[in-house]
Amino acid sequence: MPRALDSNTRDALAERLRFYRDLGLTDFYRRPVEVASAATHEVDAPSSESVAVNAELAASNESSTVPVAQDSAVPADQPKFLGEDPTIKTRKIFSAPREIAGAVPVEERAAALQAVREDLGDCTRCALHKGRNTIVFGVGNPAARLMFVGEGPGADEDAQGEPFVGRAGQLLNNMIAAMGLKREECYIANVVKCRPPGNRTPEPDEANTCSPFLFRQIDVVRPQVLVALGATAATYLLGARQPLAGLRGRVHAYRGMSLIVTYHPAFLLRDPRQKKEAWADLQIAMKELGLKAPAKA
Ligand code: URA
Repeated sequence: MPRALDSNTRDALAERLRFYRDLGLTDFYRRPVEVASAATHEVDAPSSESVAVNAELAASNESSTVPVAQDSAVPADQPKFLGEDPTIKTRKIFSAPREIAGAVPVEERAAALQAVREDLGDCTRCALHKGRNTIVFGVGNPAARLMFVGEGPGADEDAQGEPFVGRAGQLLNNMIAAMGLKREECYIANVVKCRPPGNRTPEPDEANTCSPFLFRQIDVVRPQVLVALGATAATYLLGARQPLAGLRGRVHAYRGMSLIVTYHPAFLLRDPRQKKEAWADLQIAMKELGLKAPAKA
């Protein structure tokens, strides 16, 4: 017998479905649930997701400035699923739906991005809206071949409404120039579009709420190469938590695109010795794009 949902759960579910509908996601199915396991499932049990993701971020090469809890039940080097079902270890990399893949003609991409921005609206979907000054949507060439994804806006970005305009942004601009490109040729966005208080790492519920808008931006721009800057971007793009060290230095297949993971520029500002490693990652991106570094790089 299917279990009846209590009214709180039903309301929460309805709210979540409304949110998905806002995103244009309308096709859902119910996974069959065995009665025995359903009976032991606590509806209001706290998700292990937050603890688990934070544990990975702590275990990654970029030490967070925020103390994070460790989940002793899950070894740090195990990929972990970001959803609610802990029995599923890793989210499969899914192909972009046929109607999305390559579907937005170049000349319509700016308008398509604007439509995503309008759907986002004056967003209050997660708690981050309370502390923000500006939603930092994304910037750049809607038909970019190269897209960078960071974690979330900092103070400068929150003030100016544009990603990567502070010190980390200056370094990102230098990295882009070293590749022989201009910032305006690329598209730049973040996992979350509102500044986390004190620049803390976004909580999983914040990142999971906001990242569908990033995925839609990616599906419009459809860059040949995506570069995840740091552990948060890598975690939410790949849908699995792994130490950055295991993700860098190679090409990941991502919805028909190539995804390369490298250090976040803010981390490189704290530990400039790692710039050599980051440059090696960017050279992989350049190879994918068929680019040669300018002589001075
Ligand atoms: N750090 C990020 O991750 N994104 C920004 O936009 C700025 C700093």
